[in-house]
Amino acid sequence: MNQLLEVSDLAVSYGGIRAVKGISLAVGQSEIVSLIGSNGAGKTTALRAISGLLPCETGQIRFDGRDIGGMSADMRVGAGLAQVPEGRHVFASLTIEENIKLGAYVRTDRKDIPQDIERMYTLFPILKERRKQQAGTMSGGEQQMLAIARAMMCRPKLLILDEPTMGLSPKMIEVVLATIEKIRLDRTPILLVEQNTVEAIQMADHVYALRVGTIVHKDVGANITETSLKQLYMN
Ligand code: ATP
Repeated sequence: MNQLLEVSDLAVSYGGIRAVKGISLAVGQSEIVSLIGSNGAGKTTALRAISGLLPCETGQIRFDGRDIGGMSADMRVGAGLAQVPEGRHVFASLTIEENIKLGAYVRTDRKDIPQDIERMYTLFPILKERRKQQAGTMSGGEQQMLAIARAMMCRPKLLILDEPTMGLSPKMIEVVLATIEKIRLDRTPILLVEQNTVEAIQMADHVYALRVGTIVHKDVGANITETSLKQLYMN
């Protein structure tokens, strides 16, 4: 079956130090794929190389039927890869609606933007309620929801999320998990980095565990438990 994203033998180095050592992974249509591993395993580095923010040393990245390895990060966004980086990064002094609109900056089909804003408000009613509020005054979970809605505004073919539950309270983690579930129902595939939130990992169709830059285990999310996660990180 043709995969939406196919990464083969990807290696990334900082100076002379290899942080990602030849990994291969795939994301199919409508799938959630999770990349897990302890601190420093290379998860963020792999995501940044896939979205074009870091150069690859070796490897091939095929997306939506073409090799995107030579494309700039902006071109990859245009091709349908949207990344929400670790730490949310909403524009704190702008309103929620202004933040959402900014997500459409790469789009040429301007006339469809209002209907997509409404789509985001249907997916995330709290954002509609607060649309005139400054984004910086929202809770961490709400800001994460906004960062995701903003990324969805470029109508991505694949959404990349880097540790969306990091630093959030259990209640806010639930909000983010519900958001991910809604996006799955919206049929947008997700490549997700997660470390500790086992419920997020269990949602994944496929899980790849990284250790010091290498994939050491592949599984389906439903098989992952608190105990197996601890073992994966300890060995
Ligand atoms: P975390 O969960 O802590 O974010 P991670 O799995 O995402 O960890 P990376 O951030 O990808 O791990 O880091 C992988 C390795 O690359 C680590 O050893 C890290 O110290 C190193 N590294 C990351 N960024 C840089 C950089 N800009 N310069 C040099 N080394 C870096």
